[in-house]
Amino acid sequence: MRRTKIVATLGPASLHRDTIAAMIRAGMDVARLNTSHGTLEGHAHAAALVREVAAEEGRHVAVLMDLAGPKLRTGETEFTRTLELVPGHEIRLVNYPVAGTESLLTVEYSRLTEDVQVGERVLLDDGHIELEVVRSSPEGVDCRVVAGGSLGPRKGVSFPGTNLTTPALTDKDRAAIRVGVEASVDYFGLSFVRDADDVVRTREFIDSLGYDTPIIAKIERRQAVEHLDEILAEADGAMVARGDLGVELPPEDVPVQQRLIIASAGRNMIPVITATQMLESMIDAPRPTRAEASDVANAVWDLSDALMLSGETAIGRYPVASVAMMDRIIVRAEESISESDGIGMAAPETDDHSYVVALAARSIVESDLNMRGIACFTKSGYTALLLSKVHPNAPVFGISPSESVCRRLALARGVTPILSQTATSSEDLLHVVDSSLLGGRYIVEGDEVVVVASLPVRAQGTTNFLKLHRVGDAAEYEW
Ligand code: ATP
Ligand code: MG
Ligand code: MG
Repeated sequence: MRRTKIVATLGPASLHRDTIAAMIRAGMDVARLNTSHGTLEGHAHAAALVREVAAEEGRHVAVLMDLAGPKLRTGETEFTRTLELVPGHEIRLVNYPVAGTESLLTVEYSRLTEDVQVGERVLLDDGHIELEVVRSSPEGVDCRVVAGGSLGPRKGVSFPGTNLTTPALTDKDRAAIRVGVEASVDYFGLSFVRDADDVVRTREFIDSLGYDTPIIAKIERRQAVEHLDEILAEADGAMVARGDLGVELPPEDVPVQQRLIIASAGRNMIPVITATQMLESMIDAPRPTRAEASDVANAVWDLSDALMLSGETAIGRYPVASVAMMDRIIVRAEESISESDGIGMAAPETDDHSYVVALAARSIVESDLNMRGIACFTKSGYTALLLSKVHPNAPVFGISPSESVCRRLALARGVTPILSQTATSSEDLLHVVDSSLLGGRYIVEGDEVVVVASLPVRAQGTTNFLKLHRVGDAAEYEW
């Protein structure tokens, strides 16, 4: 059973019923829709298609709608031609529309002249081109080309030294959220988060529509790195968004931040996705490079909850093979080490009973090699997430009567979501465990599991119940 989950971006290469079905069979746990591309109608349709195919395949597959956010772009170029920026030459950046040339170019950012300071670097087109600000006035920002190159229309712009004042949530994102909640997507990805307030405001907006869709904070700005813990305390998930993070920070900082973000997500008990360029060469080739295989394995050993495919499955030639390859590398990496290697037992002192019970369950499966897993009743998904975060050496079966909770749990490392009826009484609890585990053939009769739940079953309490249980023995209990 693979623990680390696979997120795959859907795009022109994969938005077909058969391809989605094949990707699910190959191991896709979460389908990502990127609202930076395509249309909202197209994404709503895609979300419904994923839901339909997942039901046919009998799998819980989550849909992650990634919001475009305030990605700054350059404007159009004259005759939409490609500009040639030559090192040493000067170019003026302005915040009003012009037909761009080698000496005058629009940047779609209203506070350009207020926010950008002399001496700062400006990166164009994912950092391929570098400028340095030499003069700034209300008329525009004059830059010297440091690293030149060809620049097409509407390319990404980044100011690595500037604390941009644009909020993470744009009007376009609000429109996407309206469509997303209607399509009952399972997660929203919030791009270019600056601080916890960006998450709070997004949550308020989702709440105002009457939904509680969880928010994954994409860490891709220097500002976000500086406010990491406070952002992840507020978010429901995190993404190591290495694409834009690698534009804002020098390359040597990206692997370090990957570890820090995963560690912070662990402390905050939320799932974390490692993203971008994981099997990049498979966009054009049937096999990955050795370095990519190592990157995937290392992200597993770093304890990512999920790994993400972007262009590989959105526009690549081998979308299904990319998922299958990622599955193979993950499984091999997981076989080679024990889940809890290197994870200290010392737990933070807490009065959270759910957490204390999770630690106890982990300790039991660690000491008793006959324990085949931890079966956990979870109404909101919280207990299953806690169990995932203490990294027990056995699968966590997240049993929930809610389809939406089951789909959310598709993102959590080591968790197998199982939809089941609600236990109506304490006696019923063990019956539900037996039927859930035996029904899905996760376990055979006579296997032992740790059962974790909250009693009385009707109350919405914290986890306060733990039992060692032989599967199939439920009938023998009278309470
Ligand atoms: P982000 O910064 O959000 O990751 P991106 O431009 O890198 O944005 P990805 O989601 O990583 O986009 O996808 C990789 C590429 O796949 C995109 O650059 C785009 O060319 C293509 N793509 C993704 N989704 C779609 C879509 N729905 N329609 C068309 N092209 C898409
Ligand atoms: Mg990307
Ligand atoms: Mg990005």
